[in-house]
Amino acid sequence: MNHPIHLNHSLHLISPHGDYAPYICSTCGATVHKDCISLSRIIKSLWHHHPIFHNYFAVKNECGILECGICHEEVNKEHGKYCCSACKFIVHVKCVLEDKSWYYEIASKDAYEKFNENATLVDPTFLVIQENKLDENVINREIKHFSHEHNLVLYDEVRDVKCCDCCSLLIETSFYHCSKCDFHLHKSCAELPTKSQVWFSPLPFDLIPNRFFKCLACDSLHTGFAYNFNGSCWCVQCTERSLSYTSQAHKEHLLLFYNKYNGPCNACGNSIDNGEAYRCKSCNFNVHWTCTLLPQIARHKCDEHSLKLTYREVNDYSEYHSCDICEERRNPNIWFYHCALCDKSAHPKCVLGDYPFIKLGIRISSKTDHSHSLIPVQKVYLYPECSKCGQLCLDLALECAERRCSFIIHWRCSRLKDFIEDHSIVYLIGIKGTDDFFSGVF
Ligand SMILES: [Zn+2]
Ligand SMILES: [Zn+2]
Ligand SMILES: [Zn+2]
Ligand SMILES: [Zn+2]
Ligand SMILES: [Zn+2]
Ligand SMILES: [Zn+2]
Ligand SMILES: [Zn+2]
Ligand SMILES: [Zn+2]
Repeated sequence: MNHPIHLNHSLHLISPHGDYAPYICSTCGATVHKDCISLSRIIKSLWHHHPIFHNYFAVKNECGILECGICHEEVNKEHGKYCCSACKFIVHVKCVLEDKSWYYEIASKDAYEKFNENATLVDPTFLVIQENKLDENVINREIKHFSHEHNLVLYDEVRDVKCCDCCSLLIETSFYHCSKCDFHLHKSCAELPTKSQVWFSPLPFDLIPNRFFKCLACDSLHTGFAYNFNGSCWCVQCTERSLSYTSQAHKEHLLLFYNKYNGPCNACGNSIDNGEAYRCKSCNFNVHWTCTLLPQIARHKCDEHSLKLTYREVNDYSEYHSCDICEERRNPNIWFYHCALCDKSAHPKCVLGDYPFIKLGIRISSKTDHSHSLIPVQKVYLYPECSKCGQLCLDLALECAERRCSFIIHWRCSRLKDFIEDHSIVYLIGIKGTDDFFSGVF
């Protein structure tokens, strides 16, 4: 027979019985299992951004680094593999075909490129109201963003401590702001696409703004924008997760994504138990992929300045390192937050608390616990009693948005918590919006 994988000569079946009977080329002696001959020639795998091609035979130096892009073990040159010669990306057949939902067959490279062209034509998330031209650059000074009812204006200078209404993280660079409401977006968050073509799904995810949800990937509670896929929400950071990662903690080499890894985490010191991780094999530097989601900067009432995520202790003059929040011991070799001006250091857990991705002060339209809208709050000095259990609200609580009403409830005592933990999504409403123009819970 003639087969596209070995076009120069024809192949002959040695013995017609059994799955393992190989085809052999009498001219060059190459063999192929009968089973393998039916493998798809081109597939799109979640593990690579280009289509990859099945090769049975060693093609000289076609794929430079012979390390499997999935399990990161060596790929034997003599055996079948899938590769992308442009990127020198190579994977074991068994690794790439392990899970049927990780890949799909494609008829030809042209067919794949056509499919991709269509995917990039997506609706913009904003209309430009006013633009400024600076030399070659066009700057969108004022926009109408699909997430907000008023126009937003671009600012370059950060004066107040504000968090982004998309990702809930602190704003330290250019941002868009509504002059009528307390609504802020990082410039980069305002420019997110309405559809995200993530590597781990063949279908795109849809951007939905102003939600309260639990991320399906990192399990954290979030307020802000979500990417919706099949009714489940993913946080923006999780959809941006890639197959390689540059860490400020290990600038020398690129870290590669491992689906399953066992070993200690250099960020938090705990073990990565067959979990998802980024790893530099040659230096044995490993981090939980969830540890890479720690914000670069954070704030805590213990310090008037922003605290910076720091990877190792530089002031190693002291024997004993402690956390300036909980006062317990702190391992100087794992990541911590630090203010250089005040020389304060603290555990990430102590700085961020349990809910680093919930923006305080936002209005929640859900009526699961109270007849008025509620606002997530974190009281700092005066702690009111929870309307349900009577204990002081020391941690995250929900407070009534109406001035006349003194209702407040622990987050942990609320029905909304169970509702969202069940992966339900709740709409948020603007801080000044008095009319509940959204339909509430769905
Ligand atoms: Zn943001
Ligand atoms: Zn507004
Ligand atoms: Zn997430
Ligand atoms: Zn970790
Ligand atoms: Zn390294
Ligand atoms: Zn400070
Ligand atoms: Zn309570
Ligand atoms: Zn009330």
